[in-house]
Amino acid sequence: MKIVVCAKQVPDTEATMTVEDGKIGWGEAQLIINPWDEYAVEAALNLTADHGGDVVVLSMGAEDETEAIKHALAMGAGDAVLVSDPALAGADNVATAKILAAAIQKIGEVDLVLFGQQSVDTVTGLLPVQVARVLGWPALLLVSQFDEVDPEAGTLQVKRTLEEGKQIVEGKFPAVLSVTKDYAEPRYPSFMGIRKASRAKYPAWGLADLEMEAPASVVSWTGVSVPPQREIVSEIIAGETPEEKAKNLVAKIMEEKVL
Ligand SMILES: Cc1cc2nc3c(=O)[nH]c(=O)nc-3n(C[C@H](O)[C@H](O)[C@H](O)COP(=O)(O)OP(=O)(O)OC[C@H]3O[C@@H](n4cnc5c(N)ncnc54)[C@H](O)[C@@H]3O)c2cc1C
Repeated sequence: MKIVVCAKQVPDTEATMTVEDGKIGWGEAQLIINPWDEYAVEAALNLTADHGGDVVVLSMGAEDETEAIKHALAMGAGDAVLVSDPALAGADNVATAKILAAAIQKIGEVDLVLFGQQSVDTVTGLLPVQVARVLGWPALLLVSQFDEVDPEAGTLQVKRTLEEGKQIVEGKFPAVLSVTKDYAEPRYPSFMGIRKASRAKYPAWGLADLEMEAPASVVSWTGVSVPPQREIVSEIIAGETPEEKAKNLVAKIMEEKVL
């Protein structure tokens, strides 16, 4: 089985984001693999451990921002492809989907494409279904469990986790899936894995390698701002006994017209 995992890097989730002159900054905070993508890597590694095959991590991004690739390789992915071209800077989801789909086709003979549920910085969760649409492959989204995978027959049955409950769906290879964090805790990269990843060589494809022009973006960011600072005033409710404190708290809640 050949499984491609799409992954990107994002600013550390602890980073404080700033916006200056319409540009987003995160100070000195480091880039990390999008945390949702670790679940997709974990699922791909387990699937190939059970059924044989290779895991290739695919990332579109700047040439010097390869944290997602390195992390996935350190977890155990066997191969990687970076797609990077100055003309792709600021690509929106539609453009990104076309590029990733072209790269998946160039990788060739792919059975499954796994995505994280969404990215923590732009939080759209749109790419998996957009890539499926461009490839013309079935999209099985929000997968929390792989019930049956039969590479010989090219079929799979998975559980989807929805707010309302679980849904069991079947599909055929090749397919695009997104994996939720209910799947399983992702493994930590081993020391050996980190060393191997730091020395790994993998191709960096530009638009010419994909025989494409930069696809047009259809969405533009016309404004970006951080939410206004909220002023929080805290007050400790006094009282000699827990009962008195509770009484005073209720009085305060009524006074503030919270209830
Ligand atoms: C004008 C404009 C400028 C933008 N500039 C930037 C920018 O500078 N930096 C930026 O990060 N975004 C930028 N974006 C957002 C950009 O559209 C998204 O980052 C990108 O399309 C991925 O979408 P998403 O993050 O919403 O992915 P989602 O759909 O939320 O992500 C789902 C999954 O897709 C995979 N994935 C996401 N992106 C990639 C990727 N590049 N390679 C491989 N797998 C991926 C991951 O597995 C992720 O878990 C810009 C958008 C617009 C409209």
